[in-house]
Amino acid sequence: MAGPVQHAQMRASNLALVLRAIADAGTITRVQTATATGLTKSSISGLVTDLVTAGLVEETEAVPGRAGDRGRPSAMIALHRGGAAGLGLELNVDYLAALMVDLGGTVRYRHVVTRDNRGRPPVEVLEELGRLAQEAVTAAAEQGLTLAGACVAVPGAADGTTISRAPNLGWADVPVELPLPRTAYGLAIENEANLAALGELWFGAQVPRDFVHVSGEIGIGAGIVVDGELFRGAHARAGELGHVVVDPAGPPCSCGGRGCLERLAGLDAILAAAGVDSRGELERRCAAGEPTALGAVADAGRLVGVALSSATNLLDPDAVVLGGVFAALAPWLAPAVADSLAAHAVGPELLVSSLGADAAVRGAAGSVIRRVIDDPATFLSAQG
Ligand SMILES: [Zn+2]
Repeated sequence: MAGPVQHAQMRASNLALVLRAIADAGTITRVQTATATGLTKSSISGLVTDLVTAGLVEETEAVPGRAGDRGRPSAMIALHRGGAAGLGLELNVDYLAALMVDLGGTVRYRHVVTRDNRGRPPVEVLEELGRLAQEAVTAAAEQGLTLAGACVAVPGAADGTTISRAPNLGWADVPVELPLPRTAYGLAIENEANLAALGELWFGAQVPRDFVHVSGEIGIGAGIVVDGELFRGAHARAGELGHVVVDPAGPPCSCGGRGCLERLAGLDAILAAAGVDSRGELERRCAAGEPTALGAVADAGRLVGVALSSATNLLDPDAVVLGGVFAALAPWLAPAVADSLAAHAVGPELLVSSLGADAAVRGAAGSVIRRVIDDPATFLSAQG
């Protein structure tokens, strides 16, 4: 006999089944939803009504059938793009970002502030991120969107809502509290390289189901996607490509090691080798064919290729995706990465991220939307 707890669990899992079927189909009728989920038409009716009431799906009357169509037109069901929204925030070494996507994955708000956060007190950086978050919350309200939750991308590791370590910021055990309204899924914190890989998977141009996404910033991280799912490793430390050793006698690294990839091929290393102090100037000189700048980028590309060859030999991905700053530098960086990969590994396809530096914050916002689709019952109960 099913008690109230089992009944609630069954309803939650059926709501998720129905919402997933609607999300996968784009538009679908109630009868087709019943076929896709294996639920009865009467169950579907109640579940769809609940999802419509919560603002997650909408029903529109179908255009009357074309000549030759039989029967009366059925109402079509689709995700309600004016309903729930996910807020992605990013706290990175040299910028802060806020981005909001709706249930359909469309970007509804975006604000990026370039700012070197090294040496700033964590509380000051978090206050500024909080202001970005509040502006996004206001934008959501103005657009009639219901914020379902927020996720912060950080250049390091998180434990719950604490940044446990972010070596390139010099932070350890920094709790993250932001002035956000109460939402169904609350606040989550996740490594930016992981979120960037998910952003690429969900919103990027065509990527295969097995790939390594490289986030080239001041640090270098990688997100490993295996069969369409993020691979985190036993201690959520998988993908630390920036700390793969490419020169055991190289310079010391914030991790305590020596000759790590990011010390030799991260943005700071490239800028120093090129003799410039901004990414814009680096790109301008590369575009003008300035040999020192081109040489600095190519040297970094060769080392990125060496590290990716080892990753390729271990993981056998279909593709390697250059993301973050590396996407912007791809015209000059990618050929060196490709040569180096070809010399050391049986090459995966080398792709350039279509999202660039936005990948992590898109992935952060998308992870909230993913939670709505996977667990709509929590969104419904938060609405009271
Ligand atoms: Zn290191």
